[in-house]
Amino acid sequence: MSDAVHQRLDVEAPVVAPTVELGALSVLVVEDSISDQRLILETLVDAGADRARVSCVATLRDARQSLIERPVSCVLLDLSLPDASGLESVTLLSAAAPDTPVVIVTGQAAGPMVHAAMAEGADEYVCKADLDPQLLGDVVARAIQRRRGSIRHRQMLASAAAVFDSISSPIAVIDGSGRIVAVNGAWERTGVLSGADPTRIGIGVNYLAVCDHAAGRFAEGADAIAQGIRGVLSGDLDSFTMDYPCPTPDEERWFSLRVNPSGEMGGGAVLIHLDVSDLKAAERGALARDSRIFGALDTTSPIFALIGPDAAVLHVSELTCSLLGLTAGERIGEDAFSLIEPTDRVLAMDVFARVSAVPGTEEQVTIRALDGEGRWRALDLSVVNLLDDPRVGAIAVTGSDVTDTRLHQIARRLESRLLARLPVAIGLTDDSGILVYWNDRAEALFGISGSEALGRSTADLGLETTDQNVTEDIQRTLAEGKPWEGDLDAPRADGSIVPLHVVVERIDDDEIDFHGTVYASFDNTERDRLERELEFQAFHDPLTALPNRRLFVERLDAALAEHEAGGRLAAVTFIDLDDFKALNDRVGHTAGDLALQIIADRLRSVLRPGDLVARIGGDEFVVGFADLQGPEGAVAIAERVLRAVRAPFRIGHHSLHLSATIGVAMSQPGVPADGLLRNADAAMYEAKGNGKDTVWLFDDALQQRNRDRREQADDLLRSLVAGEIHAHLQPQFCLHTGDLVGFEALARREGEDGQISESADFIELAEESGVIDQIDQQVLAEACDALAVLHAEHADATPTIAVNVSATQIGDPGFPAMVRQLVEDAGFPPHLLCIEVVESALADEHAAAATLEEIKQIGVELAIDDFGTGYSSLSRLQRFAVDYLKIDRGFVAGMGDAGDDAAVVSAVIGLGHALGLRTVAEGVEDEAQRERLCQLGVDIGQGFLWSPAVSVADALELVRNAGSTGTPCWAPVD
Ligand code: C2E
Ligand code: CA
Ligand code: CA
Repeated sequence: MSDAVHQRLDVEAPVVAPTVELGALSVLVVEDSISDQRLILETLVDAGADRARVSCVATLRDARQSLIERPVSCVLLDLSLPDASGLESVTLLSAAAPDTPVVIVTGQAAGPMVHAAMAEGADEYVCKADLDPQLLGDVVARAIQRRRGSIRHRQMLASAAAVFDSISSPIAVIDGSGRIVAVNGAWERTGVLSGADPTRIGIGVNYLAVCDHAAGRFAEGADAIAQGIRGVLSGDLDSFTMDYPCPTPDEERWFSLRVNPSGEMGGGAVLIHLDVSDLKAAERGALARDSRIFGALDTTSPIFALIGPDAAVLHVSELTCSLLGLTAGERIGEDAFSLIEPTDRVLAMDVFARVSAVPGTEEQVTIRALDGEGRWRALDLSVVNLLDDPRVGAIAVTGSDVTDTRLHQIARRLESRLLARLPVAIGLTDDSGILVYWNDRAEALFGISGSEALGRSTADLGLETTDQNVTEDIQRTLAEGKPWEGDLDAPRADGSIVPLHVVVERIDDDEIDFHGTVYASFDNTERDRLERELEFQAFHDPLTALPNRRLFVERLDAALAEHEAGGRLAAVTFIDLDDFKALNDRVGHTAGDLALQIIADRLRSVLRPGDLVARIGGDEFVVGFADLQGPEGAVAIAERVLRAVRAPFRIGHHSLHLSATIGVAMSQPGVPADGLLRNADAAMYEAKGNGKDTVWLFDDALQQRNRDRREQADDLLRSLVAGEIHAHLQPQFCLHTGDLVGFEALARREGEDGQISESADFIELAEESGVIDQIDQQVLAEACDALAVLHAEHADATPTIAVNVSATQIGDPGFPAMVRQLVEDAGFPPHLLCIEVVESALADEHAAAATLEEIKQIGVELAIDDFGTGYSSLSRLQRFAVDYLKIDRGFVAGMGDAGDDAAVVSAVIGLGHALGLRTVAEGVEDEAQRERLCQLGVDIGQGFLWSPAVSVADALELVRNAGSTGTPCWAPVD
């Protein structure tokens, strides 16, 4: 307080804005080295400073001149200037601009010189070697903050000084000897100690001497006062208080003299004569607060409150009330901490505990408090213990609302931190190629630290791609004003190469006068690895890791091209494992998979380098051989493969052995890989037909047969498209009543010459070439049309139609929907249609079950064709809810002579009837057969005895003429 009085500080408005936002600051760089000047300037700009607001000078003289003419927010000062040395420069600079924060920029790490400079009044220091935008920004912000704190402190002192002066009670400050060193206005105006000449007890007068002089003469108690003051000055007393009456002509007034040590070095005390007449009158012990002190603080400080030693709120200024949305007088007497955000409360309590413990203590703290709109506001507070200040007697809290500043700070910090942490390597160069920004990820990706990278060119660091085309492309694209994006391989610090995806963009910011290029690089290593993995998966069989058909064909084509050019021969072998399905069923899929892996390993082991092996189906492998003399060599290798496959092996407790059927095809000029593969497949197929476990060569005869079949298949397709294939209907009769009860639809092909060929001539070919599906659909559609007519004409006793369906249709999940559509469109009762499938089509129970179940749901009936030629278990018949069993015509034909077949027929009939099925006998050619079948209890017959298949028109006519009884012709089942 005494400082404040005799220094009479004139504090100007602070030169810094309350927000430390570098872009808004003016900065003076005092630095004699031009290169260092440039480094500091560029770093400042990178930290966000406005280039236009940064000025540089090289001497202290210029610096002082500049500061006087144009104050700045912060000075960056080099300690070794040509016209001032070290500390001197700090002192002189502070004299020129006492309120400007000073940051020392040193050549080397903090030494005694830096410490001395800090003691002399510098606020912060930074080492040139450590300069980076983040650090410099932080240091400048800290310096400004620190200076702002001390300015605020001085302002407080200054306003306190003003307050001091405006206090109506006389106050004097004495030094250790009792000499008055400062007085306030009231002291100057009032004669203290009655009768004394006030001019005689002003500054310079020894107050003790005055007391000693007055003692015993005109002032009662002057000696006691002198004694008390001496006690305080010597430290024997903590403080001294004496109330004394002061009679005036009108009334008796009471004063209270308070003597407190001033806390000055070398001793001293503050004397206050308080007029306590009112208190005395009210017999109150406490001091009345001088309301003018608060009046002053209330208007100068955005936040001002007084808190009692028990933390109770005593006073809240109007400004503070409006900030916190309080009405005047609200919260008085309540716990001050209740206003504070709960997590900040602990901190606030700590500060309060420390401050309230020792009078005079001051601390700064930032806490959050709820404002009138329910938002947390950040408040920068200074908490001062003025408990033993008689004018206050409380803990004073002053401060300001820094919410916006803080939010800004947080955002800025996070922004730069995010940029540093982004999973993208970011480098920024200026137009001379010098790196000015280098984030964490860039350090990691290129193995070059920020301190190594910054300030050096990418070329120096060896970071530039060696691909001249890429470099040119980047330059061209940037010149067009567009960003460049693409993949490139970049060198790292250790010389290794890293695949990158890079985005390059120009940055031209006239506002901060920065022109350069930013490189954002994504590490492609992982992506490339995934791509390779996916590519491997796309071209390999996951079980054996062998190439798949696609890759085999691709590689073989490449090898064939080479071979053909060199006039050499190659061969493809197609290896089909014999009865693998049975093995799989027996040992389970897991063991089956192991067996396939074992075979794959064996195939690999018999091959020479350059040979190709692949797995192209469940139990199908192919091998391509190169450099052969002729077919003999190829067959010899195929036989070696076969021997390798045949070797027995064990899986768990199973002792297993496999064999294979192998087709071999030699390369031929102009035949590509998939052609050779087909030839080898054809040879394998031929071998299967001639007994398995052998090697078969695709030879000229086979080739001719193949060619013929292909031509025939083409011709079949042509005639289907040309509408030459139609359903014919063969009538079926009840063996007991002789009534016509239904038809079987059979495909017939009418040649261009009008010749009709039977199904037997083309069905096998159709199955092989895949045309069968279209034929089936054609016949099915025509059968449905015929049923629609039959049902319309003979609604009460409509004959049925059975349609043959191949195994591929049964495996097609879309087939039932097609049947349903045809039946619904034609509009006849679904049970009139029957689907005939051969036993072997039910082999794949899973696929068949779903389709047949759906067909049954439509209401369509189901027949097992050629029953007895294949293998059908009882359970299978039940499972598929079969309606008819058709006894193969071979059994019917064989009934006559040996008699064996009659037994089979009899057994089938018994089985069928036991299961509640109807039986149909095919190929009934004569009366004897009919009679026999009738005796055996067969329900229905069809065959040349009655009629071959006839055209639909003829069939319809047949029904019209014959009529139908409509009575069931089979024996009722008990
Ligand atoms: P399948 O289903 O056993 O058809 C009966 C075959 O026996 C027919 O020969 C028929 O003309 C013939 N046949 C009828 N009665 C007699 C007779 O008294 N004695 C003799 N020896 N044969 C008789 P087709 O029409 O040549 O049919 C042969 C096979 O072709 C059929 O055998 C059937 O499995 C299949 N097929 C016929 N049409 C189709 C069709 O549209 N789709 C499918 N998937 N297969 C069909
Ligand atoms: Ca049939
Ligand atoms: Ca049949």
